[in-house]
Amino acid sequence: MGFISKSIRTVVLGELITGMALTLNYMFRRKVTINYPYEKGPLSPRFRGEHALRRYPNGEERCIACKLCEAICPAQAITIEAEPRDDGSRRTTRYDIDMTKCIYCGYCEEACPVDAIVEGPNFEFATETREELMYDKTKLLANGDRWEIELGERLKQDAPYR
Ligand code: SF4
Ligand code: SF4
Repeated sequence: MGFISKSIRTVVLGELITGMALTLNYMFRRKVTINYPYEKGPLSPRFRGEHALRRYPNGEERCIACKLCEAICPAQAITIEAEPRDDGSRRTTRYDIDMTKCIYCGYCEEACPVDAIVEGPNFEFATETREELMYDKTKLLANGDRWEIELGERLKQDAPYR
């Protein structure tokens, strides 16, 4: 661009007008941003978020303490202890996940024969301390109770592909 045309563009505020026109153009297009955290984007039913331990509809824990999830966890984040109950059923006495070790691979969920341990849709569980990320059985079962409707729906949607 020659000196004269550059000068004319400067005098008539050409750059400013071009910028304003671009802004005006985008004002009427569909927005690609969302007002997080008040709005949230769609999540895949396979999204691997915070862990939860599920129960059967009668309130009984699904987990049968087979320890497959503990064995398959590549990060060795899961610790399980178990003993038989009076009725002979086998249940965990301890189920811990060190969420600071977890790499969210989903292997624990894949290995579980009874859909007990699952990774849910919750990704908003940041904490201020490491200790808060040491999940125990109580915390995991509470997560399961809180998210059961969403967890059940996700499993149903994914079932044809498993
Ligand atoms: S998601 Fe992977 S790393 Fe995390 S607890 Fe499960 S198996 Fe371990
Ligand atoms: S969560 Fe599933 S895989 Fe892990 S011990 Fe319980 S039943 Fe077995």
